[in-house]
Amino acid sequence: MRDAIVIGSGISGMVTAIKLAEAGVHVLLASPFPSERSQSVMAAGGINAVMSRHEEGDSVSAHIEDTLKGGCYLAGEEAVKGLCESAEEIIEYLEGIGVVFSVDEAGRPARRAVGGHSYRRTCYCGSSTGKQIVSALVMEARRLEAAGLIKRALGKCFHSALIKDGVCYGALFFDEAFGNISAEYTDVVVVATGGQNALFGKTTGSTQCDGYTAGELFMQGVELKNLEFVQFHPTTIETSQKRMLVSEAARGEGGRLFYMDNGERVYFMEEKYGPKGNLMPRDIVSREIYSAGKDVFLDVSFLKDSDIESRLPEVRDLCKKYIGIDIAKEPIPVAPSVHFFMGGIAVHKNHETNIRDLFAVGECASMYHGANRLGGNSLLAAVHSGMIAAREIAGRDTKEDRPDFSSAAEEANRMLDKMKDTKSVFPVMYIRDMASETMNKSMGIIRSEESINEGIKDIDYYLSVAERLSYDNSVLPYFNYSLTGILTLARAALSCAESRKESRGAHYRSDHPDTLDDYAAATVISYENGQYKVRFDKENEYES
Ligand SMILES: Cc1cc2nc3c(=O)[nH]c(=O)nc-3n(C[C@H](O)[C@H](O)[C@H](O)COP(=O)(O)OP(=O)(O)OC[C@H]3O[C@@H](n4cnc5c(N)ncnc54)[C@H](O)[C@@H]3O)c2cc1C
Repeated sequence: MRDAIVIGSGISGMVTAIKLAEAGVHVLLASPFPSERSQSVMAAGGINAVMSRHEEGDSVSAHIEDTLKGGCYLAGEEAVKGLCESAEEIIEYLEGIGVVFSVDEAGRPARRAVGGHSYRRTCYCGSSTGKQIVSALVMEARRLEAAGLIKRALGKCFHSALIKDGVCYGALFFDEAFGNISAEYTDVVVVATGGQNALFGKTTGSTQCDGYTAGELFMQGVELKNLEFVQFHPTTIETSQKRMLVSEAARGEGGRLFYMDNGERVYFMEEKYGPKGNLMPRDIVSREIYSAGKDVFLDVSFLKDSDIESRLPEVRDLCKKYIGIDIAKEPIPVAPSVHFFMGGIAVHKNHETNIRDLFAVGECASMYHGANRLGGNSLLAAVHSGMIAAREIAGRDTKEDRPDFSSAAEEANRMLDKMKDTKSVFPVMYIRDMASETMNKSMGIIRSEESINEGIKDIDYYLSVAERLSYDNSVLPYFNYSLTGILTLARAALSCAESRKESRGAHYRSDHPDTLDDYAAATVISYENGQYKVRFDKENEYES
């Protein structure tokens, strides 16, 4: 294998690039912004691993079972087994490149409790785990950059993949510095572009991760999976731009949820689910908060000041900065918000898509989390998937012939120029806002046939508007050309939600509240001649 392009430079993209470069592959690591601004830096809670250094009853098989159970048995058993079995090695790799984990009295990585886990197994670096992992990976990437193996290219936004006869040969990128679209050829493309936040507007995630890549690839023939499973995090606070996460660590350290009734605190999670009620899986806590129909608060004020200082410093700073609350003295007003996408690009166990030489890793790929993700498992999956993909790719042959796609780049530039000649009557961002409002209403915490069909009607209308849309010169060209891909992804998600006539994990249908054996399979969706085709992957074809 001679070269590869990795699109997206969060944790999964960087791990892929580093491992490929270490195997001698030349990598173009492309993203609009530096890694230090990727969503990965926001991860606060930690990364899961059962370490042989820790005895206390936990085991890798318990981690596997918790992950499968949390995902309502939709995630592939083999894939989850590989994920959990690799966790200890991943922690050791991260320690080896300079990630400093918080330690317990015995000097071993300390672990905190996180919802849905039967043991404390979430390793953390204070409350800045993601930041520390990104920093260490950036240093590794720089070392390989100096060796001429990684080229980091900033200001590059994915436009489309170069695919011929079911094989990928590269990608078109919009270059923010030059304002044009150019073709990059390669042996293998790895997509590592994160979640699909633009579908829901204000979420806890990064606005950089808008889902466009998944939507565009879908239109180009790539299959997507499990799009109906969108995780709502139960404890977020409202700010003007986005929702900010109050880390699960706050409940892991003993935080209690309550609402007020007749002047009395009602600890509704503990009343319904017992002493561990506050740490129930995220979908259950989110639904309970939503169904309570009252203002809900999270209380950590009974913890010792020193514990808040050492274990929850970022939660303390966040609440002080954004809502002026001192968590050592007052409860935090919280509400659920979209936080993570279990669904995404369908990949085989080696992380290749249904298009040869096109891979997907990290949050943009759907593999390990089934119907719901356990906290701490996505950082693990980001590192693990990058390692798996790199191992597979490094062993592949270099492509002898590469078809010429220069006409595709010319056509894309012509489209961009044509858009620039006219002014839009519909501002692009207005349509994006309307679409996200639709998605929040139709595919929120609780959905129904009626709400989903309303959503489909609205998104189909926005798609028809987008087709007639001309250039909105008040926003970057990227926002113009990405609109159709984002709307198509939204439409595909609604089709998945419509097809799954049951409730499972993060997908709750008020008209079909039960979990049914008939639907015990992943949802796979493809796009054929403008039609959205959903099937249930009962044969587990994506497990091979
Ligand atoms: C607030 C918050 C807290 C979290 N805490 C935890 C936690 O404690 N533990 C845990 O396990 N998980 C946590 N998660 C989830 C976890 O952080 C993510 O799933 C993980 O970091 C995703 O990594 P990634 O490499 O897949 O993507 P990201 O880190 O999101 O990186 C995506 C990259 O793709 C680039 N990109 C996007 N679109 C394009 C495009 N069109 N063209 C080119 N490049 C593009 C971006 O610029 C970026 O470089 C948290 C998430 C949030 C939002």
